[in-house]
Amino acid sequence: MKTLSDFFKAANKILKKKGMTDEQVNEFWEEATDTEEGFSGVPYVVIVYNCNDDLVCEACRSIEGEHLYKSKTEAKENRPKVPYEKCTSEGGCRCWSTMTTSILDADKF
Ligand SMILES: [Zn+2]
Repeated sequence: MKTLSDFFKAANKILKKKGMTDEQVNEFWEEATDTEEGFSGVPYVVIVYNCNDDLVCEACRSIEGEHLYKSKTEAKENRPKVPYEKCTSEGGCRCWSTMTTSILDADKF
């Protein structure tokens, strides 16, 4: 039986055949699945960034990078919230994050 991730891979192939770049394909799915709860089977990735200088504290270093979630709801509930409450930097937390669909990770769940 084909899985949802097979469906997305097939759809991505078609979109690329029609001349869309990787970035445009990502944007397409981002828009198509942009509802309050997202869609079942569409994973989300949260990426936490920091200023990457000497002032970034250990706590903030520990949450930097990619965090993958099974659904939009899970991502919203469980992602590291920034500014990070455990931040110990003198000037305060300067982290930021992005949250986007990650269709190609669908087979990891
Ligand atoms: Zn921070």
